[in-house]
Order: sequence, then C-alpha cells, then structure tokens
Amino acid sequence: MGRFTLPRDIYHGKGCLEELKNLKGKKAMLVVGGGSMKRQGFLDRAVNYLKEAGMEVEVFEGVEPDPSVETVMKGAEAMTKFQPDWIVSMGGGSPIDAAKAMWAFYEYPDTTFEDLCIPFNFPELRTKAKFAAIPSTSGTATEVTAFSVITNYQTGVKYPLADFNITPDVAIVDPDLVSGLPAKQVAYTGMDALTHAIEAYVSTLNCPFTDPLALQAIEMVLDYLPASYNGNMDAREQMHYAQCLAGMAFSNALLGIVHSMAHKTGAAFSTGHIPHGCANAIYLPYVIRYNAKDAVAASRYAEIARRMGLTGTSEKALINSLCEKIQEFNRKLNIPLTLQEFGIQEDEFKEKVGKIAELAVGDACTGSNPRAIDPAAMEKLFTCTYYGTEVDF
Ligand code: FE
Repeated sequence: MGRFTLPRDIYHGKGCLEELKNLKGKKAMLVVGGGSMKRQGFLDRAVNYLKEAGMEVEVFEGVEPDPSVETVMKGAEAMTKFQPDWIVSMGGGSPIDAAKAMWAFYEYPDTTFEDLCIPFNFPELRTKAKFAAIPSTSGTATEVTAFSVITNYQTGVKYPLADFNITPDVAIVDPDLVSGLPAKQVAYTGMDALTHAIEAYVSTLNCPFTDPLALQAIEMVLDYLPASYNGNMDAREQMHYAQCLAGMAFSNALLGIVHSMAHKTGAAFSTGHIPHGCANAIYLPYVIRYNAKDAVAASRYAEIARRMGLTGTSEKALINSLCEKIQEFNRKLNIPLTLQEFGIQEDEFKEKVGKIAELAVGDACTGSNPRAIDPAAMEKLFTCTYYGTEVDF
C-alpha cells in the first residue's frame, strides 16, 4: 500500500501571508528563529494578522540553526502553559523543524526523542493544535514535508524525525519572504531543491502521485534558478514554488544517497562546514552515474533529461548530458565541482573517508536509493567526488 500525504491547504502568491487572518482558532503560538523575520517586519505582520483572526498570540523567539533538544523542550513547555490551538512557525527550515517537534511534546509530554526517532511511529497529533508553516528560504520545503531534524548537542546525535503526522495542515508559500535571500543561499537551496526532485523521481518509492511534482519542479529549477541567483524577483518567486513542489514529491517518495553523502560530510572536516545544498550539488552528477548502472534508474534519468529538453541518441548520451547540465549549473552558481575544489584537505579526506562511507551507507536516505551500495563502493564514490574522476563501477 502506498500513502501520499500533503498539507490540506497550500497558499501561494505574493502577499499570501495575509491568509493568517482566516485561520479559525482561539490561541496561536508563533515560533520564529533568530530575528530576520522581525527585522524585515514579517513577524509583526504575522502577529497582527493572527490578532485580526481573533486569536490571542504568543511568540516563541530565538530558535537557532540546527535546533537543539533544549529549544524543543523549552518551546513545548511554553505551549503547555499557553495551550494554543494553532502552532504557526515561520522562518528558514530550523524554526519550522523545531516547532514540529515541540508540537509532538506539547501533545504527548511523556514521549521521548528515542520514541519519535522510530520512522513513521508518531502518536496521533492534532488532539490539541493544528500546524501552519511559513518558509523564508527556498529549499528544505519543510512547510510541506513529514520531516524534521533535531540535534542533541550533548551526544552529537541528530534525531531525524519522519512521520506524516508532522506534515503541516497549512503551508503559506509567500515569495515576499525570500526576496532578500543572499545569492549564495539562493544557489545552495536551489540545488538542494533540484536534488530533492531528482532523487524523488528515481527513488524506489516513486509513484504516479509524486512523479509529476518531481518533473515539474526539475523543469522550473532549470528555467528559473540562474535568473533567481542573479536577482530576478519573478524567477525568485517561481523558485519558491518549485522547491515546494519538490518537497511534496520527496516527502512521499523519499530521497537517495546524494542526501546520505551530504548528511555525513556536512560537519566532517576541519576546514569548515559544507552547506547542505552545496554538498548535494557536488555529489549529484556522480551519484547519477553510479545509479545509472541500474536499468530502471537509467531510464528515469533519461526521462528527466528529455523533460529538460536535452538531446541524445541513446539513454547513455542523455544521462551524460544531464550530468553535464548539472555541472554547468554549478559553474554558473559558483559551486565547486569536487570536494578538492571546495577546499577539503587531501590528507584529512583520505584519513576519514572510510568511516564517512560507512556512516553514509547507514543513513536513513540510503534505503530508497535505486541502486544498492556497500561501504567499499561508497568509499570509491566519495573518492570520485573528491578528485572529479569517472564513476565506472
Ligand atoms: Fe535536502
């Protein structure tokens, strides 16, 4: 049996933040991050719209990037005191992810992160509150997904939460909120969205419900990402929708080993953090070449290439054009093509790659990748992404 779950309402269009006026309830807890929404005036606007809806409003501010267990518990406690019937989260991925976990602890104070970490095993939510999400970046699509990541800084463990119960009830996808994004973030999050769509399309869990969303997202990223990067606000608006479509696809079809690799290398090297979307953009063409040894995946990649308007006389030629196109995008967006070019030291890479490969194989995203992989092959694949060498295994 398959299941396909999305928010009941997705509002889109410039100024649609105003839809908060039409939420029906008594009390809203508004969860936000470090202050950019406040500085740009969106926080005040959201509070006022919720008040216009006749609700009492409390704001929980200061959710940090990569939100912690402590922040989640603090938020859940504030909710228990205030008793909201709406949780409204606004910002980059982090405040929305944190609010999803706060919601679970608000409804079930006795639950634990260990329980919540078991995939698709959440208790039934919405006994106390419904959930609205308003993204201020264009990439994670957490406003429409069943996922959240919370970090335990004491143990260094990341809790990946996955359950359709935390798919929001309402998503408000207002492009005004992303008009001020720095170009670098536009590039990285845009390539993250492209990776979501491509991985969802070839995932072992792809289905007729997710395919059209993935293909449409891919086409829109192709059409609009470079212009959005160069500051065109109409293109920025379309990218905000494209990433949301990609999110609707991958929330239901899941992802693959590009994400496994990015998850395990983001914080692995002493030379500094590799931003998530940047890591995905580097790995994607290498993973396509690895996965394309699987016949079903190959025909799906070829279909993506055709949809992108690329030409080739064989499947192999089409897949080659697809990989070249992705690297051409990376060049346009000032994203490196290899880990070496990113600045990872060779000695450190060689020392750590074995362990990282093992961890990547064990990542939650490996299970839905179209071709199986073991730690030895993963190590070879990482090595190709370091030097830019050909994937021929
Ligand atoms: Fe991602």
